[in-house]
Amino acid sequence: MTRLRHPRRLTTLAMLLLVAGGGLSTWLPTENLGAAAPRFPAGYVDQARLDGAAREPQNWMSHGGTYQEQRFSALDQVNEGNVAKLGLAWSYQFDTNRGQEATPLVVDGVMYTSTAWSKVFALDARTGKELWRFDPKVPGDHAVFGCCDVVNRGVAVWKGRVFVGTIDGRLIALDARTGKPIWSVATTDPSKPYTITGAPRVFKDKVIIGNGGAEFGVRGYVTAYDTMTGRQAWRFYVTPPVPSAGPDHAASDPVMAMAAETWFGTGWHQTGGGGTVWDSMVYDPELDQLYIGTGNGAPWSRVVRSDGKGDNLFLASIVALDPDTGAYRWHYQETPGDSFDFTSTQQMTLATLTIDGKPRKVLLHAPKNGIFYVLDRQTGRLVSARNFTQTTWTDGIDLKTGRPNFTANAFYEAGEKLILPSSFGAHSWHPMSYSPKTGFVYLPVMQQPVKFAQDPNFHFTEGRQNFAVAFGVPSGPDVPKTGGALIAWDPIAQKEIWRVAQPEIWNGGALSTAGNLVFAGNAHGEFNAFRATDGKRLWTFRQQAGIMAGPISYAVGGVQYVAVIAGYGGGRPLMVRDQNRPQQAQPMGRMLVFRLGGHARIADTDLALPPANPPAESFAAAQIGTGAKLYYTHCVFCHGGMVMPDLRRSGALGDRDSWNQIVIQGALSANGMASFKRWLTSEDAEAIRAYVASDAKALKSEGHEMPVPQPLAQSRNKGQRY
Ligand code: CA
Repeated sequence: MTRLRHPRRLTTLAMLLLVAGGGLSTWLPTENLGAAAPRFPAGYVDQARLDGAAREPQNWMSHGGTYQEQRFSALDQVNEGNVAKLGLAWSYQFDTNRGQEATPLVVDGVMYTSTAWSKVFALDARTGKELWRFDPKVPGDHAVFGCCDVVNRGVAVWKGRVFVGTIDGRLIALDARTGKPIWSVATTDPSKPYTITGAPRVFKDKVIIGNGGAEFGVRGYVTAYDTMTGRQAWRFYVTPPVPSAGPDHAASDPVMAMAAETWFGTGWHQTGGGGTVWDSMVYDPELDQLYIGTGNGAPWSRVVRSDGKGDNLFLASIVALDPDTGAYRWHYQETPGDSFDFTSTQQMTLATLTIDGKPRKVLLHAPKNGIFYVLDRQTGRLVSARNFTQTTWTDGIDLKTGRPNFTANAFYEAGEKLILPSSFGAHSWHPMSYSPKTGFVYLPVMQQPVKFAQDPNFHFTEGRQNFAVAFGVPSGPDVPKTGGALIAWDPIAQKEIWRVAQPEIWNGGALSTAGNLVFAGNAHGEFNAFRATDGKRLWTFRQQAGIMAGPISYAVGGVQYVAVIAGYGGGRPLMVRDQNRPQQAQPMGRMLVFRLGGHARIADTDLALPPANPPAESFAAAQIGTGAKLYYTHCVFCHGGMVMPDLRRSGALGDRDSWNQIVIQGALSANGMASFKRWLTSEDAEAIRAYVASDAKALKSEGHEMPVPQPLAQSRNKGQRY
């Protein structure tokens, strides 16, 4: 841990202000905008304020709006009757066109947001004026350990400090007034392929952070630190230590024997088993406990990971912990023995629902596996479960045991199977919203069928993605269709209420408001408002950047604002090009902020890509074939999609030496293109160039975009993924 500076203490004046608070304002045009905030020092959010966050709808002080993470705004100045007059109040352009996934926070008129590359910005929430920015200067080549872009989903604010997790595994506390770092800790072993993309959460003077990287060969855990000093308070591991390693001396020690009984063989010893907690962690002030959502197994195939048997605790689970000590309280495993990348890291929302005439404290969850779960959060017992999309791996959940009934289709070691939802998930990190007014959950859903088969040639490679699965693209008339939608789901009746088709699969998260509105962006850069009760579209704002992140609402000076960060990328768009969309460059990310009568404008940018750039030289078919296999092992996850440079158009494609300088010597590592010397030889790099050159030739001769990558059939047996 680096102690950069003494912790800032509150001045006497600040304390007096805290005690005195601010008088009820007369400038608020409606009562629904809430009482004026007391004049707190910058970013002064404490337990009392977060516990009572619902009483301050003008602020958005924690990731999901309140500790319950319902992503519901009680503001109704903007409502179904006047949303047509909503317009852009201001926008702020960031310094990168990489994926933007952050939910901004707004505390007393200041917006704090993270962006790609783990940077943090403070903006005046009324005008968009930059107050400060912080760049943690993550090494560019660490990007090679991210499955899904160098995104960051947000910051936490606590007692004048702003906390951010960085893509290279640090947790940093910043001064909320200046953006200057106060302390920084390495939360992961820098020699291992860990990454952080999730937002930290704060409670009781602790800040908690997880990590990602399961496929790359890491063992998941969460760590709580003292907010003032950065000293570690406790750590909880998701998977057991390998038998030879001995105990971890961590909060998870007492339950690791129980977990170890559910693991078999030695396949997981190299990878650590996975189970990374890369997104949702929720503190429950009513029950004083913490929930963490855990990730998938590593490698994906349980046949390789655990001799094909065992539940593999605590993968793909919700685990309840004591927030003070990290001690285990209960767990509910959603996908026992996960073999599909069915993470349970998706957003957890707390609510009290009336079920069978009784109020129940529940946790709502819609993980990748396609089932909508309602859990009793006192006991961890399942209340109800229903699929919100087509599922081929299970035909339902046994309410007595809480376990899924696996279908024969779930076991792809017996032969290739079409898995729905696939590893892309029926719902990923894109935030959902629960409106206590309508009683519905607004959920961005996805469907992309993928065929899974056991990969007979699998061998573990640290730092690259380890699946032990050979993938296939299903075709034919009976294949379920691919697409995305925003749905309204009744969590009590467990049924869909309405559905709006989205233009593509990977779209924006949702916000519901007391104005009977649901806001959500989409892949094509539209930001829409729908009527919460029936899904009728009432308003649209169009701009160039695709929107993935969750919107928020807040108020300053009596005016309600709606904000969303625009910028496309993340998991799927990095590796897949949308067939129905001309390929174009990604514009810079932007914060977009709206108000009634807003009339700000943003200029379009030129998104034309350079043409295909095939070299004149020709390559042997065998070399091209080798290159295709390597491309689908190492390159496609970042360069197969719509965000990173399309290699077929690369200026370096025609020059062997330039290509080698980039791929092997790391000439562009500061930009995020690491040297692949650890995994590839110069001959390999040249073979990849040969393959890309042939692909570039095809692109040029077609004169238009190529759809799904062609050589998938050739690469099927090597465990590549498109
Ligand atoms: Ca995963």
